[in-house]
Amino acid sequence: MHSIHRQHPWIFSGAITNDTSELNDGDLVKILDFKDRVLGSGHFQHATIAVRILSFEDEVIDETFFQQRIANAVKVRRNCNLFTADNNILRLVHGEGDSLPGLIIDYYNRVAVIQCHSIGMFHSLEMIKNALIVTLGEELTAIYSKSSDTLSSREDITDGYIYGSCETPHLALEYCVKYAIDWVHGQKTGFFIDQRENRALLGRYAKGKKILNTFCYSGGFSLSALKHGAELVHSLDSSKKAIELTEQNIALNGFGDRHASILADAMNYMKELAEEYDIIVLDPPAFAKHRNKRHQAVQGYKRLNAHAIRQIKPGGLIFTFSCSQVVDKVLFTNTVIAAAIEAGRKVRILEQLHQPSDHPINAFHPEGEYLKGLVIQVD
Ligand code: SAH
Repeated sequence: MHSIHRQHPWIFSGAITNDTSELNDGDLVKILDFKDRVLGSGHFQHATIAVRILSFEDEVIDETFFQQRIANAVKVRRNCNLFTADNNILRLVHGEGDSLPGLIIDYYNRVAVIQCHSIGMFHSLEMIKNALIVTLGEELTAIYSKSSDTLSSREDITDGYIYGSCETPHLALEYCVKYAIDWVHGQKTGFFIDQRENRALLGRYAKGKKILNTFCYSGGFSLSALKHGAELVHSLDSSKKAIELTEQNIALNGFGDRHASILADAMNYMKELAEEYDIIVLDPPAFAKHRNKRHQAVQGYKRLNAHAIRQIKPGGLIFTFSCSQVVDKVLFTNTVIAAAIEAGRKVRILEQLHQPSDHPINAFHPEGEYLKGLVIQVD
């Protein structure tokens, strides 16, 4: 009850006093207090997070509602200058951060890819589609719905175009770098948009440098570094598919002569690393998806960072990240410090990094903060 007055957008199942057995997953429900006053409405699901609140007012959740919320989210991105001739890869809607819990919409050069994290949002797809068409007009040619991974408990959910269509891979731009994006076969919606500003920052340090980009996926950090004059970049990933994506993007931008790929497990590779790199990027997948894995995750981050700190050239930089929501920025910083102590080298923190403005954090939903990083210099 207190949390709803503070506009936290979730209601946990234990906080509900009514019998919910008649409700179906995805039902739109009104939230009432003990005096039957309306506190808001949201999508119900038989799960720990029982209601994702869409509105804290007594309002109808219809197409106009979605149109207003989506238009507002798009306006924020325009204000952040993310829709430009140089950049057409961005997150249009970031769930709770845009007051649309359970809804992710990514945008790749006129194509929107929708990922639903709740059945209620999945049932609202028609309204979301119409809202996108009205809001984006000619800037939208297709919408792909991709929720079979995120709603995997429901076997009836299939992925596909719900408006127009588009061949993949599809060409899109991130700050002038070309990417071939494949939302059909790729991880998540096809690209890790959340690292855009951190990739751009690497570009600022990259000129003339020899760089190792571990956990490269489709090569984002490598491409930004090469675009800004890196002398040589090695991209490492344990997935063959990721290496193929990276090489495709490297070729697309004509950077092949300054690049090589390494198919390997990062942890093993880092153990044996030669001291030859000026910059190392560490961007692993979430080591902890749940609180009970936090300790193990911290050990993993410490080991990985200790290897990099030990092996980097004197004066070198490490761009190190964690996207585990349960490892907060204080814990992550302490873990990197512990790794420096273990490696026995002097380390300075030059930059403290986070998720970008198109992945906003709802101030009443601090759980929305998940990406954190540091740029450290090793003497
Ligand atoms: N830095 C990337 C996103 C990283 S996603 C970008 O900017 O787009 C995480 C990547 O880590 C995935 O491509 C996955 O294949 C890879 N990965 C997972 N475990 C790994 C391991 N043990 N060694 C190397 N790569 C790994």
